[in-house]
Amino acid sequence: MQKFDPATAIQRLDGRDANRGVNPAICDSATFTFPEAHLMTETFHGETEGYFLYSRHWNPSNLALCQALAAMEGTEAAWVTGSGLAAITCALIHEVKSGDHIIASMTTYGGTFAFMANYMGKFGVETTFVNFQDLDAVRKAVAEHPNTKVLYTETMNNPLLRIANIPELSKIAHGIGAKLIVDNTFTPMIFSPYRMGADVVVYSMTKFINGKNDCVAGAICGSGEYINSLIDVNTGTCMLLGPVLDPMRSSSILKNLHTLHIRMQKHSENAMYLAKRFKEVGFKYNYPGLPEHPDHELFNSMMNPGYGYGGMISIDMETADAASRIMEIMQKKGVGYLAVSLGYFKTLFSNSGKSTSSEVPEDLQREMGMSEGLIRFSMGLDNDIEATFQLIKEAVDESRR
Ligand code: PLP
Repeated sequence: MQKFDPATAIQRLDGRDANRGVNPAICDSATFTFPEAHLMTETFHGETEGYFLYSRHWNPSNLALCQALAAMEGTEAAWVTGSGLAAITCALIHEVKSGDHIIASMTTYGGTFAFMANYMGKFGVETTFVNFQDLDAVRKAVAEHPNTKVLYTETMNNPLLRIANIPELSKIAHGIGAKLIVDNTFTPMIFSPYRMGADVVVYSMTKFINGKNDCVAGAICGSGEYINSLIDVNTGTCMLLGPVLDPMRSSSILKNLHTLHIRMQKHSENAMYLAKRFKEVGFKYNYPGLPEHPDHELFNSMMNPGYGYGGMISIDMETADAASRIMEIMQKKGVGYLAVSLGYFKTLFSNSGKSTSSEVPEDLQREMGMSEGLIRFSMGLDNDIEATFQLIKEAVDESRR
């Protein structure tokens, strides 16, 4: 694969506004004027360039963020939504109709799992959940369901940090004319799934991309034709369901996107440091940056150089009670916060099975290898990571007394 640097792709964009402000001006208009009536009609039909119709469709502030996201992702276009789940659900709904099938990784964010397992059925769309580490199992599921329209996975999955083989999965999807939709929320910049064959890349920008935990937001990245189809006034899922991101938020997220590369490097550096220290003291840890991780080589073969192995790391405390005790002590000691979500400048930790994956039935949690004592950390931008390690170790020791 040709070398690609997402951060440089964003930096090369000229983001100035019409008054040469270095940040694009915030456009807080819901509707837009036209100098001539026929231009309005033509814009409705998607026949004009440079005209805005209505902010549920396009808005200049959203466009500025979308151009930067598309540059980062190596896609032609992007569109931004009011949450990550809105991006995921719209991308899925857009591809399927009653009677179609989805093959999804059995290890996804709980909300995504719940949407496919509990919600899509009422529209006649069934999902088969498969272990995506086992490509033969994916091929078998696809063969058993010739009506499959979508293969769905996270690049780095939640919460087990396994890596999906995007090039191979895209071949399987394309072999039957289906689309591969990839949630790259855990690994922006580290992986560029579209460049490896995915058709659509979705994000919860609530996480690393924004990095400030001050809003909920999402993005859908893909070809220009695809993004236009999402906002078609007659048939576009995004235009008709209306999950558009508020332009004020687009403006603040765009400014945060410009520091994403530095943040990702630091999140990764800190997680890698902890992984090595956890290994030294004999904690049962899980981090794809060390060779012991089953997908370390696959990670190496897919990653963009320079951003590390990501800021997510987990330790297994075996029981939910032990995990709870340690998390409470860690919070008191100032390691970070006992909170769901990720990609924040402070460390966040939670017991996955009791929180972000609690929608996944317990027997499936065990089948996918998730221990009930699994603590998932989203490492913050800590300046003294050895001191953080010492606090975590103290918390573990104290909890055992
Ligand atoms: N994808 C992943 C991997 C997530 O962890 C989450 C949320 O936790 C989502 C999607 C949903 O995003 P949002 O909360 O922005 O709707």
